[in-house]
Amino acid sequence: MRVELLTVGDELLLGDTINGNAAWLGRRLADHGVDVTRSVVVGDETDVIVEAVTAALGRADAVITTGGLGPTYDDLTRDALAAAAGVPLVRDPELERRLRERAAAAGREVREMALRMADVPQGAGLLRNSSGSAPGLRVELPGGVVYALPGVPFEMRTIMDEVVLPELAGPPEVARRTLRTAGLWESVLAVRLAEIEAMDGVRLAYLPQPAEVRVRVTVAGAGTDVWDRLGHVEKRIRELLGSAVYGVEDETLDRVVHRLLTQRSATAAAAESLTGGQIGAELTAMPGSSTTFAGGVVAYSTDLKRDLLGVPGDLLAEHGAVHPDVAAAMAEGVRDRLGATYGIAVTGVAGPERQDGHAVGTVYIGVAGPGNTRIVTQPKLPVPGPGPETRDVIRRMTVVH
Ligand code: ATP
Ligand code: MG
Repeated sequence: MRVELLTVGDELLLGDTINGNAAWLGRRLADHGVDVTRSVVVGDETDVIVEAVTAALGRADAVITTGGLGPTYDDLTRDALAAAAGVPLVRDPELERRLRERAAAAGREVREMALRMADVPQGAGLLRNSSGSAPGLRVELPGGVVYALPGVPFEMRTIMDEVVLPELAGPPEVARRTLRTAGLWESVLAVRLAEIEAMDGVRLAYLPQPAEVRVRVTVAGAGTDVWDRLGHVEKRIRELLGSAVYGVEDETLDRVVHRLLTQRSATAAAAESLTGGQIGAELTAMPGSSTTFAGGVVAYSTDLKRDLLGVPGDLLAEHGAVHPDVAAAMAEGVRDRLGATYGIAVTGVAGPERQDGHAVGTVYIGVAGPGNTRIVTQPKLPVPGPGPETRDVIRRMTVVH
């Protein structure tokens, strides 16, 4: 079995997007004993895609494409595959129904452009996409078969693992997914997930970082549909852990925060004491974060908490800077002064010495939103004794919390 890859998108040619899809596909296929003999990148142009697909099938048994399946007029993979097969695009009633349903659920009219996603080359098969809206396509051409997958990496990978790899490499014997959790100790996770550990053919591995644990779930079982089983196991894990599960695979915390803020058209601003700007660094790590992160104030000294953020002087005089009300006032101050939807503030003791009678690891987190202000106390941390790493760990945990 010889497979060629065809990644589609002007942004790949221009270097705006690194071709992570080709890299991932190459690795994944090699891991499953499938030979990739060529990998080609083309822009968003129908003729060029048709020519590339046709040429690839002159050499290989199958072509996997990514990108160009979305609703916009520069998404041309569907048109190109129809042209290559010499068939028209036809609207799939089931896909159309789903698009209309989803629009209705979100309270909006479906646009004609969006309905393009329901157009498929006549005779094409649909590849189930359990992680997104657009399914992939399976198109049989005289020279071989084309698997057309969406460009969005996470959706592409899901369809690949669940549908395409089993077709190309035979039924999988293991399915694996990494769930990202924050805020629960590894030991707490292990207790909560005891029933999962006890399941036949299911293995859990805990990959801890400060305040975060990645839980790698492996489901084994030759001949059974391991991806379906993994789906059930994941659902149960999410029930057991609740909101501690914040993402899967490489969805880091900053990306998830950015996505959630984007969905609400909201912004955040940070007032930082003990983290000294690390929250701002985290929330600006991603390209494009300027749409969701307004800015931050590092108010390390007590005077600056008062002068820059408007924390009442008598509050600071009476309690010092490490106090829940100070965290709340800092959050409200930064929200107000920077004009953000949410203000986040942290104050506490990073160590290695106690401060004003407070133990190392005492941290208060304030969050001010449109409706109200909340204070979160960081749970007592089992810090590894006084030392330079204690300070790093506490600061990092504070950022994650
Ligand atoms: P959508 O339905 O989201 O429009 P699509 O199938 O049309 O999906 P594209 O529009 O080509 O896919 O790409 C969507 C996003 O996926 C891009 O913005 C880009 O970030 C990412 N992407 C596309 N191709 C690749 C690739 N080869 N490697 C890594 N990321 C990619
Ligand atoms: Mg697109």
